[in-house]
Amino acid sequence: MTWVTSLKQLLTGQPARTGGPAQTCWPGLVEHYRPWLPVGGSTPIITLLEGNTPLLRAPALEKRIGRGVRVFLKVDGLNPTGSFKDRGMTMAISKAKEAGATAVICASTGNTSAAAAAYARRGGLRAFAVIPDGYVAKGKLAQALLYGADVLAIQGNFDQALAITQDLAERYPVILVNSINPYRLQGQKTAAFEVVDALGDAPDWLCIPMGNAGNISAYWMGFQEYRKAGLSRKLPLMCGFQASGSAPLVLGSPVANPATIATAIRIGNPANWGKALEVRQESGGRFASVSDGDILAAYQVLATEEGVFCEPASAASVAGMLKHATAIPTEAQVVCVLTGNGLKDPTTALENNQANLYRDLAPEVDVVAQVMGL
Ligand SMILES: *Cc1c(COP(=O)(O)O)cnc(C)c1O
Repeated sequence: MTWVTSLKQLLTGQPARTGGPAQTCWPGLVEHYRPWLPVGGSTPIITLLEGNTPLLRAPALEKRIGRGVRVFLKVDGLNPTGSFKDRGMTMAISKAKEAGATAVICASTGNTSAAAAAYARRGGLRAFAVIPDGYVAKGKLAQALLYGADVLAIQGNFDQALAITQDLAERYPVILVNSINPYRLQGQKTAAFEVVDALGDAPDWLCIPMGNAGNISAYWMGFQEYRKAGLSRKLPLMCGFQASGSAPLVLGSPVANPATIATAIRIGNPANWGKALEVRQESGGRFASVSDGDILAAYQVLATEEGVFCEPASAASVAGMLKHATAIPTEAQVVCVLTGNGLKDPTTALENNQANLYRDLAPEVDVVAQVMGL
């Protein structure tokens, strides 16, 4: 490439197009949306070039719904550590570093710990993660450990982990980077900016899974800010979905023992409860639950018909949309947020697919052809 570049430069005096000029490269979401974010000239920006994720049309889902409804997937599992948590973490860690912190702590169902670890280490900070032992998907735990976090697994659920973490952050010099940290939501609101930048306006519906309900609150903040600035004409109806065994916001009261295959949203007492209720009220939205069966069905449809591998919690947005499809106005635009990458949770994928895996075959073409039915 270097040779081609220099030859072309030599002949034309123009820089080669390969790679493009530096300023057209995505600079990370803080730089791209800097005027919208609480950062100053002296804030050290810790970035892995998160954000700018695809907004992908979903023709198979559109066919299921019909009536000219257009469906888009915000594929946020394509962020650097594989989930939307990176959007919040670039802000939270940058601000922690600006404040002179040397360590951060989070409670996590997995993705927060992966993101916190990656950004903290990149910024030269220590990362501590308190997790519910046995309920963090394999890929997420692997990430947190490889990035170099200290992982503290408790014999308890996420809600207990968060309570401990909050207590620790109050008593010791470690900064909490859960979504109670306001910088997290500031970073995460940029996903709404990206959706509007891509569509030219806000969608009619936004479907999103809810755990602690930080993300739905952040999206709503983003949509409102763009609307106020005249960058969109409308505001979406915000549809938040929870797993039926872990649906405190749908039930209206905390769930002591949340249970769902979607471990990222296995949360019984959401930290952003009040904010979430405001979002529903202000947007005229709806909260509903979907069963683990609905979630797994949507998870498989996304993979086998759209070619998109998301994690189970993310599929709750699509499961919810399909369940409430008849309520979607004709020709409306719907965005489903796919919060995390399917590779995070290989166990669920291996145990829940309709494909054939033929094992122990002799290494012979005739044997393989016969199994293929040829
Ligand atoms: C964190 C997370 C959620 C839930 O987001 P909240 O902001 O807690 O509502 C959903 N899906 C995935 C993959 C997550 O990592």
